[in-house]
Amino acid sequence: MDMEQNDQQLYECSECHLKYKDKEWAEKCRAWCRKHQSCNLEITAHAEKPETSLG
Ligand SMILES: [Zn+2]
Repeated sequence: MDMEQNDQQLYECSECHLKYKDKEWAEKCRAWCRKHQSCNLEITAHAEKPETSLG
């Protein structure tokens, strides 16, 4: 068995800096952000919530 337990790997959208567990979502987000200059709620719903609470 060679299952490595890395620290939780998150993928960041380089446009809006939201973080995702799945690289797919991060790339979808980045593609959307670049194209539309805004975020897609259906995509950002998959983002990890930041540890610091906002507002
Ligand atoms: Zn994004």
